[in-house]
Amino acid sequence: MHFQLHSTDKWRNLPKVELHCHFEGCIPYEIIIDEHHRQGIPLPGSTDAECRKAFVLEKPAKNLEDAIATLERGAIIFGEARAITRAASEIVLRKALENVKLLELRYCPPFMERKCRGKISMEDALGAVQKGIASGISKAREQGKEIHVYLIASGLAVLGSDSLQKVVDFVIKHRQDFVAFDLCGPEEDLSRYDTFLNQIYDAGMDITIHAAESSEPMNAQIAVEKLHAKRIGHGIKVVYNAAVFEYLRQHMIHLEISPISNLCTGEVKVASEHPVTKFNSSGFSLSINSDDPACFGTCLSDDYALLHENCGFGASDFFRINRSALKASFAPEDVKSTLCKTYFSEEKEKEWVLNTDR
Ligand SMILES: [Zn+2]
Repeated sequence: MHFQLHSTDKWRNLPKVELHCHFEGCIPYEIIIDEHHRQGIPLPGSTDAECRKAFVLEKPAKNLEDAIATLERGAIIFGEARAITRAASEIVLRKALENVKLLELRYCPPFMERKCRGKISMEDALGAVQKGIASGISKAREQGKEIHVYLIASGLAVLGSDSLQKVVDFVIKHRQDFVAFDLCGPEEDLSRYDTFLNQIYDAGMDITIHAAESSEPMNAQIAVEKLHAKRIGHGIKVVYNAAVFEYLRQHMIHLEISPISNLCTGEVKVASEHPVTKFNSSGFSLSINSDDPACFGTCLSDDYALLHENCGFGASDFFRINRSALKASFAPEDVKSTLCKTYFSEEKEKEWVLNTDR
C-alpha cells in the first residue's frame, strides 16, 4: 500500500454505517486462494506474492479500468453457489467484527451470472448471497455483534444495454430483496441511461449512481436531475465546479465517500487533499465507505484511520457522518431509528468518547 496507517485498531470499535461496498470487491484474499484450490481453478502465479499481485492492488492503479480488472480476477470463484455463500458469510462477519452496524452491500447480478459461467441462474445466485448474509449475521451474533445487511443491485454500464435491462427487470421482479438500484462503471454521458433509471423510479425503488468519481462534475447533477439519484457514489470531482457543488448541497444529496478507493484508483493523489474535508466543512450529508476493500488490501476501519491521520477527522466528525449516513440509508425507517438510539445518538457518542482511550 502506498500510504501508512497507524491507528486502524483505534477505529475498529467505533460503530459504523457503510452504504457503498461491492460484494465483488470484498472477497477476502484467503477465500479466493482457497476456492481456487477447492474448485480446481489454476492460480495466476506459483508464489503467494504473485497471486497477491493478481488479486490485490498494491499501488495506485493506472486507471479505474485497471482496478476493475483486479476485481474481475477474484470474482472467478463465483462458479459455485457454495463459494458465493461462503464469501457473503465471511464478508458480513468481518464487517460486524469491525463494528459495522448497518451495511448496504451491492452486487451486479449479470456480472455474477457471467462469472458463474452459466452454471447458476441469477435467482440461485441471489439465494446463495442471501444464505451467506444470514449465516454471517448469525455468526456475528454468536460473537456478540449486531449487524443489519441490505442488498443493492448494481447495473454495470460497461456490460452494455442488454445487461442493464436484464438487471433492471431482475431488480424490479425481486424488489423485496433489494433496497435500491445502483448504476456503476464508466460514467461518460450518463443521461443516455435514462430509460433504465426511469423504469426503476417508476417501480418506486430508490437509486444511487456512481458519478463524478473519475468524470466531469456535471455528471453528478445529471444523475440527480435526470436519473432520479438520491445519493451519489463518490462525487469527489464536484469540488471543481462551484455551481454543481452548490446544487448538490442545496438539494441535500448524500455523497458516498470512499477515501482509500480514490487513492488506489489514482482519482485523488494525496490523502490530505481529499475533497471530503471540504464536503464535511460545508455541511454535506456523507458516509465513509470501503468500496472494494479486499481488492485494495484494506478494511473500512482503514478509511477511518486515513481520514483521522491525514484530514484531521475525529470521533465527533465520525459520529456526525454516521448519523447522516444512517439517515440516507435505504434501510427501513424503524431499523434506522433503533440503530440511531442504540449506537449513534449524541449520548452514545459521549459514552464512546469517555470509554475509549484517546
Ligand atoms: Zn463503487
